[in-house]
Amino acid sequence: METRLIKISTENPESDLVEEAARVLKEGGLVAFPTETVYGLGGNGLNSEACKKIYIAKGRPSDNPLILHISQISELRPIVREIPLAAQKLMDAFWPGPLTMIFPKSDIVPMAATGGLDTVAVRFPSHPVAMALIRASGLPIAGPSANSSGKPSPTRASHVEFDLSGKIDMIVDGGAAEWGLESTIVDVSGDVPVILRPGAITKEMMEAVVDQVLIDPAILSKPSVDLRPKAPGMKYTHYSPVAKVTLVRGDGKAVIYKVNELCAADKAQGKKTGVLATEETKEQYQADVVLSLGNREKLEEIGANLFRHLRKFDFLGVDTVYSEVFSEEGEGLAIMNRLNKAAGYHQINAN
Ligand code: AMP
Ligand code: MG
Repeated sequence: METRLIKISTENPESDLVEEAARVLKEGGLVAFPTETVYGLGGNGLNSEACKKIYIAKGRPSDNPLILHISQISELRPIVREIPLAAQKLMDAFWPGPLTMIFPKSDIVPMAATGGLDTVAVRFPSHPVAMALIRASGLPIAGPSANSSGKPSPTRASHVEFDLSGKIDMIVDGGAAEWGLESTIVDVSGDVPVILRPGAITKEMMEAVVDQVLIDPAILSKPSVDLRPKAPGMKYTHYSPVAKVTLVRGDGKAVIYKVNELCAADKAQGKKTGVLATEETKEQYQADVVLSLGNREKLEEIGANLFRHLRKFDFLGVDTVYSEVFSEEGEGLAIMNRLNKAAGYHQINAN
């Protein structure tokens, strides 16, 4: 299959191009599109065949459900059985935006979209191109991240091209995804909302509008039989570059010393080494490739660069990557969740 690549302006999405992409979706095809979190792989979320094509293109396990994307609140009602009060408050505060909510699903949502579950994940993205495309299609659009399953989520159209060219109908290039990490997922189908995947909308932000929000304890530790994440997709090792990633904890100086020691040992074995550093430390590492995630105090920079850098290490043929760690407060929880997954939960202490 030939994959068409079209550019659509984020500031002013060209309506003829948006219509063209929407037509592909209406005809059951797959279109990758930009959102404010990462690029999504869109297909008609009410059409089982289109949903199945998404799983095939990504190589995604069939029990890992898709998120349905809408472009106005009125599109929520037909796809869910009920809208709990907490969900109403959260959508008033955070939609459109990087928050996905899990609802009991209505009958029109096929099991192919929900991985066989009777709940459905829904998000109303704020990216102008995503909004225009979903609206023009007139459909809820199933849109998991547009990467090959297991690879870091794409934050640029070029990442999607690398993973899925030849496997999908169209890629809409709308520039860099602003947040760079996938949406927060919160389950609102029970009494108290539970965060199943941390993201840009934090527990603290949500607790400003609802009384209490819990965090699925499986988020920060290695999934196990006793600790099974409630979002089926969270149990898979994700975001893994080909390189072996190790997180290095400890005091600033000790981390730098330890990482340089490990890099020297790897180099002696003929390996190409990489470091995920910060602006504050990048000059002090002696690795083949040192990439700065940004200013340590600006977690939004760190989050926005993480997946792009993980992909770059692969592109440069790096064998081993050592990464600094970050606070798990606020948005840091999402960053550490993704870093831990990229590292297969492999951490060492430098102190
Ligand atoms: P992605 O769109 O690639 O970011 O992946 C979607 C994520 O949402 C996966 O981790 C899924 O397991 C999760 N998800 C989607 N639908 C549900 C649902 N009904 N219940 C729990 N988690 C869900
Ligand atoms: Mg994904």
